[in-house]
Amino acid sequence: MSRLQSVRGMHDVLPDEAQIRRRIEQVWIDAACGFGYEEIRFPLVESTALFQRSIGETTDIVEKEMYTFEDRNGESLSLRPEGTAGCVRAAIQHGLIPNRQQRLWYLGSFFRHERPQKGRLRQFDQFGVETFGMCGPDIDAEILLLGWQGWQRLGLSPQLMLNTLGNPDERAAWRRQLVDYFSRFESQLEDDDRRRLKTNPLRLLDSKSKSIQDLLEEAPRLEDLLGAESRAHFEGLREILDAHGIDYTLSPRLVRGLDYYDFTVFEWVEESLGAQSALGGGGRYDRLVEQLGGRATPAAGFALGLERIRECLEAEAVAAVDIYLVALGGGETACLRALAMRLRQEIPGLRVRMNMEEGSMKSQMRRADKSGAQAVLIMGAEELSQQSVTLKFLRGSEEQQTVLLDNIAAILAEHFASTG
Ligand code: AMP
Repeated sequence: MSRLQSVRGMHDVLPDEAQIRRRIEQVWIDAACGFGYEEIRFPLVESTALFQRSIGETTDIVEKEMYTFEDRNGESLSLRPEGTAGCVRAAIQHGLIPNRQQRLWYLGSFFRHERPQKGRLRQFDQFGVETFGMCGPDIDAEILLLGWQGWQRLGLSPQLMLNTLGNPDERAAWRRQLVDYFSRFESQLEDDDRRRLKTNPLRLLDSKSKSIQDLLEEAPRLEDLLGAESRAHFEGLREILDAHGIDYTLSPRLVRGLDYYDFTVFEWVEESLGAQSALGGGGRYDRLVEQLGGRATPAAGFALGLERIRECLEAEAVAAVDIYLVALGGGETACLRALAMRLRQEIPGLRVRMNMEEGSMKSQMRRADKSGAQAVLIMGAEELSQQSVTLKFLRGSEEQQTVLLDNIAAILAEHFASTG
């Protein structure tokens, strides 16, 4: 029978890799908790309408990339392609938003039916934050500072690309000017771009086609249409970033692929990754809560792609075991199993692996070595009769010693406290 494979674009994460991914996740969780953010979890599946109403009917995600299916009772459902919509839905549904300020973080898997390639999967993990009820530039700055701290802890320094999309009126005026401008060159546009001109002209700004890139040089700029409020917001944000010495690159063509943003938008970019170089991005979405049926509430957030962050790191997995236990008979096994339970209880964090399926001393020692453990505890008939174990270090030059069972926990606690 043919062997089944994982679905294209959806990858298994094997133990060594999972350990590295868990470290990355912990960095972001710690960064968010350090700013007083709280965790929220929401379902992998939502009604399709949620994403259509939030992300936008004419975005690539909703038009081409969602995993949409009919439930058994005929309802249209979709696997979540991003986190903001579900987070807002949950916050409205459970009354987290009115008259409150909320700072939330989430971590989980998302699904987009894109063409799989480096940095582009069909199932991928994101870490994100969402904030509600705060409208000033200081909350935009706060999430960027939180991001900066995460990057620092990972030893990364992606470029922060920053832009403002102004308010909806300013953007509508800009959109009209862009349509007028690009319509004059319609015959030079590729099919996809001609379609975008009709449905979502702002998306022309991140088109990869050479003709658009050339035309953009002379295209109308939103910056020239911004009113006092939009300018003050953006300047306020820049002042805080400057005060903290956070570098950023002003990026007037950054529009992001989702419809719900206003004012601030940003992306963290690591050029060395090649075509899919955005590690994450976000911005303000002050209209979305109302659009999804809640009371008008200012909001801002970001999401990061954990697979792409992993690509930037040279991390290696470390051993999963500290102590390996080798028994040379049935009575010895029972005694060691009890010792293992006591060690795990008395030395929190100590990773103790018990050998299974006895085997010869040689084969058990081979398994011990393979596990990466620093030390082995061996119990044969003699040790059992003396209520002791032999402690043998597998790495380093420490001498092997026989230790009474009553004393072994203290010795190991001391050893592992000093080696970390
Ligand atoms: P977005 O909200 O689409 O900008 O996504 C935020 C981040 O998630 C991106 O910057 C990527 O790091 C990551 N991401 C988005 N789509 C994918 C994908 N198909 N595969 C892997 N990572 C992705």
